[in-house]
Amino acid sequence: MKFWIHTYGCQMNVRDSEAVEALLEAAGHVKASGEDDADVVIVNSCTVRQKAEEKAVGKSGYLCSTGKVVGLMGCAVKRLGADVFRKLPKLSFAVGPRCFGLIPKILADGRYPRLETGDDEVPEGLGAHPVTGRAGTFAAVQSYVTVMIGCDNRCSYCIVPDVRGHEYCRPPDEIIAEVRCLAERGVREVCLLGQSVLRYRGADGTTFPRLLRRLQEIDGLARIRFTSAHPSGCTDELVVAYRDCPKVCRHLHLPVQSGSDRILADMGRRYTRAEYLAAVEKLRAFDPEFSVTTDVIVGYPGETEEDFEATRTLLDAAGIDNSFVFKYSPRPGTRAAAKPDDVPQCEKERRDQVLLADQERRGLERNSRLVGTVREVMVEGPSKRNKARLAGRDSGNRIVVWDGAETPSPSVGALVRVRITEAHPQILVGIMV
Ligand code: SAM
Ligand code: SF4
Repeated sequence: MKFWIHTYGCQMNVRDSEAVEALLEAAGHVKASGEDDADVVIVNSCTVRQKAEEKAVGKSGYLCSTGKVVGLMGCAVKRLGADVFRKLPKLSFAVGPRCFGLIPKILADGRYPRLETGDDEVPEGLGAHPVTGRAGTFAAVQSYVTVMIGCDNRCSYCIVPDVRGHEYCRPPDEIIAEVRCLAERGVREVCLLGQSVLRYRGADGTTFPRLLRRLQEIDGLARIRFTSAHPSGCTDELVVAYRDCPKVCRHLHLPVQSGSDRILADMGRRYTRAEYLAAVEKLRAFDPEFSVTTDVIVGYPGETEEDFEATRTLLDAAGIDNSFVFKYSPRPGTRAAAKPDDVPQCEKERRDQVLLADQERRGLERNSRLVGTVREVMVEGPSKRNKARLAGRDSGNRIVVWDGAETPSPSVGALVRVRITEAHPQILVGIMV
């Protein structure tokens, strides 16, 4: 069969879709050139916010009307359970985020409708990667690698623990073997994935910093990234691992969610504003250019103007390099959903816009400090906005673009040195040296 996978949501979903692609290829199916050309279309869904779920369900509804075999996978399936077939009566199959490994068998059986919501199982194919159709693209040299699945944190607003199940850490040897195999295939950069990767602990006691040290030894691999992190994981052991492992990128995505201690306590985040700042300071004491990015929720139940202002001042005090702002969306079954969703939509919108404007200002200020420095950049390919330019990222995950007229043109995945000549809020512009 010709298949196509349409992915919504976070990097974990992108990774799960890749694993399904690999499993389907291994079962003899072929990736189509697009959804129109496919016999079977799979939609990988997100449910972290209501809007995200609606998008995936809406897309699946449209696809079902085309008469193709349509499958839904991912977080929305686990949340909706059997309701998924009430919303989508023509859906062929639905599988939860811990049982995507069943998809090849479901297609082989061809008995529809089929629902597998799963529980805490470890999906088959967690480490499978597609091999075909990527040559010459950044996807051929960059790979996500799942190190942990599920989450045991239970932040008050978050549905992830309900849909992705309990935390499970993959054995370190399995992760090392997977990354070694990717590096042998030409992968230059891996990004390790988990909801709270710094909590990683292998059954043999391997900590996350220890895992980084083992990955650092893999030949051919140039860069190691990871996401997401919790401030409690910014230990001395982590900082020493950064110091000893030059392949580990000087960037941490450290979601803060709020700058108000009252809201942080209500969210059950288990750190204060001061502790978050101390974690950032520890990283910057090691490397003043260390890049810290974050996630923020605006309009959490009971968030006052004062709480919101505390978030604004914290992001400035921490010198956040980039931020992703989300408008609070109540998720059924979470602790926060029992509280009134009392910040009006227009006020959530306003707070979102204020934080975006702050980020533009702060992004420009922070990037301006890098003008005149030389950044080591991994080439990703032509810039999206101007195909004549090349684009890539520095170790801090900052986007760098430069005139791509050099001959020979550096290949995708190469590390080049770029002197920064201009700073913008979201990108750096320079000249290759
Ligand atoms: N595990 C990560 C962490 O500890 O922060 C993030 C996982 S979550 C899938 C990604 C982001 O979605 C969160 O950092 C949070 O900002 C946002 N998010 C989660 N639940 C939300 C909700 N109910 N409404 C709005 N945003 C939400
Ligand atoms: Fe959700 Fe908190 Fe787990 Fe992140 S750590 S996935 S925000 S419960």
